[in-house]
Amino acid sequence: MTEAWGPDDDEPRRHHGPVRVRVPAKINLHLGVGPLRADGFHELNTVYHAISLFDELTARAGDTLTLTMEGEGTGTLALDETNLIIRAAKALAARTRVPAYARLHLRKTIPLAGGLAGGSADAAAALIACDLLWGTGMAREELAEIGATLGSDIPFLLHGGTALGTGHGEAISPILARPTTWHWVVAVAEGGLSTPEVYRKLDELRAGSWPPKPLGDADELMSALRQRDPEVLGAALGNDLQPAALALRPELADVLKAGSEAGAVTGLVSGSGPTCVFLATDAAHAGQVAAGLNAAGVCREAVTARGPMPGARVT
Ligand code: ATP
Repeated sequence: MTEAWGPDDDEPRRHHGPVRVRVPAKINLHLGVGPLRADGFHELNTVYHAISLFDELTARAGDTLTLTMEGEGTGTLALDETNLIIRAAKALAARTRVPAYARLHLRKTIPLAGGLAGGSADAAAALIACDLLWGTGMAREELAEIGATLGSDIPFLLHGGTALGTGHGEAISPILARPTTWHWVVAVAEGGLSTPEVYRKLDELRAGSWPPKPLGDADELMSALRQRDPEVLGAALGNDLQPAALALRPELADVLKAGSEAGAVTGLVSGSGPTCVFLATDAAHAGQVAAGLNAAGVCREAVTARGPMPGARVT
């Protein structure tokens, strides 16, 4: 039961809960990484795409802030102050001067440290859920601003769809294209890869090459999206982090090869990896590619997904 109360004026209404929020994983259709900046970030030019692999966060009224979970990463993922969900809830409470009281429960499907931004997705879900639970009535842009202080991908996970990310990924501009559903196969790896480690490896691989690699734009990818042809999109997909992820996890080359042998249009490492994603022509083709990858035994599990999906939303 969802019960709401509040004065009969324009004030946002506070929910006693439960408030349930579903949030997608992201992949990067294009991930251009520029040189390391003085502030420790790399300049990025990326095209984010939200896919149908979801975490779900439920928020209920409480007299303290607690987090419980089930699913992917249970027993491994810390549920304390380091968890991005707790950090996001506290950041919203501090900004809006309300007590950070809620009972939060996470149902996790997005693999940990997989290059799918699961932690950022959960933080985005926490911002939406607590905003509604506490009646703090923030605009999505305000939540994105709070989110950007916690993780570069959080503004996109609030937004969803397909969008261009610049700066260190936190500045989002929607991409206007006629609605097209793209079909993907997501090959989940055994174990994760640390994003900072992948960036460090990239810097190491690039050291000594002069002049430094300039930050490429996403024009080819954007034009491919407009053509709505999987072969064209497949040829335009790219990830500057892929060589670094492959250097740290050479067996990912076997996953990419198996996806190609299973008939995928193309495959690439998702973000910082180790998840690999494959483009298929339609849902049936995605099913075949997933079956081929599962039969090859090169990954923990290959599942089908669609995109683009909306960002964090109350269900
Ligand atoms: P990104 O590509 O955004 O760097 P990722 O997909 O590779 O992320 P995540 O699953 O988002 O990896 O998590 C990276 C790390 O963040 C985890 O290893 C974990 O230590 C920390 N973390 C904190 N909160 C969460 C959360 N709710 N879910 C997942 N990871 C979390």
